Amino acid sequence: MDVFDIAIVGGGPGGATLANIFASRGVKVALIERQKDFSKEFRGEALMPSGKEVLDQIGIDIDTENIKYRTVNKFNIFYKGTLIANPEPDFIENGEFRWVSQPQLLEKVIEKSSDYKNFSFYRGYKGQDLIYENNRVCGVKISGSNEEIDVKARVVIGFDGRSSMVRRKLNFSVKNYHQPSDVLWFKIPYPERAFPGSHAFFSLFPNSMLVCVAVYDEKMQVGWVIPSGSYGELKQQGKEKWIKFIKDKSPKDFSKHLQFCLDNNEISDPFVLKMTLDRVKKWNKQGALLLGDAAHTMNAVGGQGLNIALRDAVVCANYLLPLFNSKKLSNSDLDFAFDQIEKERLIEVKQVQQIQSRPPKFILVNKFLIDLLLPIIKFIFKFRIMNRIVDKEFVKISKGFTKVKLEV
Ligand SMILES: Cc1cc2nc3c(=O)[nH]c(=O)nc-3n(C[C@H](O)[C@H](O)[C@H](O)COP(=O)(O)OP(=O)(O)OC[C@H]3O[C@@H](n4cnc5c(N)ncnc54)[C@H](O)[C@@H]3O)c2cc1C
Repeated sequence: MDVFDIAIVGGGPGGATLANIFASRGVKVALIERQKDFSKEFRGEALMPSGKEVLDQIGIDIDTENIKYRTVNKFNIFYKGTLIANPEPDFIENGEFRWVSQPQLLEKVIEKSSDYKNFSFYRGYKGQDLIYENNRVCGVKISGSNEEIDVKARVVIGFDGRSSMVRRKLNFSVKNYHQPSDVLWFKIPYPERAFPGSHAFFSLFPNSMLVCVAVYDEKMQVGWVIPSGSYGELKQQGKEKWIKFIKDKSPKDFSKHLQFCLDNNEISDPFVLKMTLDRVKKWNKQGALLLGDAAHTMNAVGGQGLNIALRDAVVCANYLLPLFNSKKLSNSDLDFAFDQIEKERLIEVKQVQQIQSRPPKFILVNKFLIDLLLPIIKFIFKFRIMNRIVDKEFVKISKGFTKVKLEV
């Protein structure tokens, strides 16, 4: 049996960062990740200034490390192929919106953590169940490489994403913002002729929308927001038919590019993601704490999930490290610290989730109402003041709603 101060289930951006902070400050930490290869887990890759400041604080300078990323420097909003707005938030103009390779970033965080002998990485091990003592969680049963291990720890943290085993086993109660949509993700070669440089854009059309972003492998990542459960029908119709549907409503040059990609078989296989937006009502139970998507599953709006998870890690370390250093670690001290972590993070998480809950509902808005409102919207956006208001919202969501600083 292996015994640790802290066991973290889930080696995504949040879990890996938290493990790095603990390990670098002398805490004996176990990080458990079910995947052997990080590229097997598809996740958000948008790194905002709010997330970058966390990486800076743990000594990972994304601009100088050997990690692939692409900066987006232009942002447009189209409706049925017509440009309706081009907000210019300063973080985009300043090159602070980066699309970062998650497998490379995670490998880098693990590499840095491996310098510390008190860091153990169970790569390719899946957390199967929790271990209890006196009705309190005191470890995790894990399996991998044809073996089963009991990892015992003073504190167990579930940073294990949207399908969290820790959330499930402890039966946390959940507040769910029911989402009416799924997202169909695919990649195409970057449309250089239609969007020279490095663009991101929303293309809105009745009952649907596209989110398109320039990404690091000379590609464009396309997310098509579709009504929940509608992919089966689309799949039956075939790729040609649904690409034609998108094409007919997209900006002209982009539409030509899509046709070119279709003709040359350059559209990657689509991947459907159920849009989920929820959070557990209390983040700790029986001595285990949930963080990141496990505590509050984020949808793709505004590219927030990765950044929020990184920020959870910092706040968690700020509260727990002093307890480990003081050596007086009572259950009530721990539970109090867990509550403080939740209280501090909830301020930001609530605001971001409220913002994220709105755009997916767009696909439910009546088509005739949109057509009626569109000329008014376009007219409003002609005024600089309207763009400024939108810019301000973007800046808030990109830089974070609260101050998050590693203080230990
Ligand atoms: C397909 C997809 C697309 C997304 N797109 C966007 C986007 O465009 N923009 C955005 O901001 N956010 C997006 N998100 C959300 C974003 O990826 C998450 O909010 C963010 O990664 C949360 O980080 P995390 O560390 O909390 O969890 P995750 O990144 O989900 O990491 C959890 C880790 O736990 C591991 N794990 C799970 N169960 C176990 C277990 N039982 N034992 C061991 N390990 C386990 C997983 O393999 C994973 O590596 C997307 C998510 C998905 C799934």
